[in-house]
Amino acid sequence: MMQRKPKKLLVLGGMVLLWTAVASAEPPVAKSSRRAVSIGIPWDGKLQQGEVLPRKGAGYQLIEISRQRRARFGVPELIAMIKEVAFRLERRQPGGVLGVADLSKRIGGPIEHHGSHQSGRDVDLLFYLLDMKGNPVVNTRFVPVDKNGFSTEPPMVYRFDTVRNWELIVALIHSRRAKVQWIFVSKAIKSLLLSHAEQQGASPSVIRKAEQMLRQPGEKTHADHFHVRIYCPRGDRPACRDVGRRWAWAR
Ligand SMILES: [Zn+2]
Repeated sequence: MMQRKPKKLLVLGGMVLLWTAVASAEPPVAKSSRRAVSIGIPWDGKLQQGEVLPRKGAGYQLIEISRQRRARFGVPELIAMIKEVAFRLERRQPGGVLGVADLSKRIGGPIEHHGSHQSGRDVDLLFYLLDMKGNPVVNTRFVPVDKNGFSTEPPMVYRFDTVRNWELIVALIHSRRAKVQWIFVSKAIKSLLLSHAEQQGASPSVIRKAEQMLRQPGEKTHADHFHVRIYCPRGDRPACRDVGRRWAWAR
């Protein structure tokens, strides 16, 4: 019995010594060298110390092809925004899962299948879809839909989930993590969303913001996903450059 007390003390002493050794083995790292930075513009840019989007989280999953391409990096503000909106959707409209497609490569730069997505500020979000009985389905690929919201490939198997997709737009507009510049999508989908919003009695200010941010980018119709672009995080300027409209509410 008399020997137990010193033994405990020795073990405790050993732990303290070990902890000290580990702590001092780590060299001090300047905070700035660890910070993610978006550099340049989305179609001619880079990403420094990009943050990775985990494969799955509350209310979302990264699709397999984007995981394989390693197109799952962005500035922390973008990663946080994706998690934030997916979580909000899951809480407000349980049952749906947000399919997240390409972000940027780890160090940004040119990426296959995209003109932009180079500087860690772009992400493709798949539509929330319903089956023909009205049940939410987990969308894992790009499913194009027509102006009435019915899937064209495969035909009439899925329906655009207007309620959840509108909720997603609202969540993006109100994000506390990042400021959204554009949500690229086809004109037809934009009309579907805005007429739903008006029918639901959404606030005129939210409708006006959605009207401005939702945009069909030229020839590319974007009838199978939302392409979301955020503004440069404040600390990343001037290396990071915003091009185009700067909405009054995003200043
Ligand atoms: Zn895109």
